[in-house]
Amino acid sequence: MPYVIAAPCVADYSCVEVCPAQCIAPLPDDAAFDRAEQLFIDPDRCIDCEACVAACPVGAIHEASRLPEQWTHYRELNAAHFRRKP
Ligand code: SF4
Ligand code: SF4
Repeated sequence: MPYVIAAPCVADYSCVEVCPAQCIAPLPDDAAFDRAEQLFIDPDRCIDCEACVAACPVGAIHEASRLPEQWTHYRELNAAHFRRKP
């Protein structure tokens, strides 16, 4: 099960720095960066290493099957971000 970024991501990029799979986006040089309200994890590339969970200062990252009930829709929001890419 991949990991999912939910609320309250504050986009400080701590997770990006520790992710060995480089599957967290958008980065500042991505076209989607300016309109993104948070970061997302690509479920097809996440290798479930859990490194991002400890790095996140606000507890916004959860394993997909253990998302708090009020945040289960973030699973689709994370996946959809990567489907929109050309
Ligand atoms: S679990 Fe590992 S591979 Fe997946 S997003 Fe987090 S740091 Fe990256
Ligand atoms: S470490 Fe947490 S708050 Fe920071 S960008 Fe990643 S998910 Fe968002």
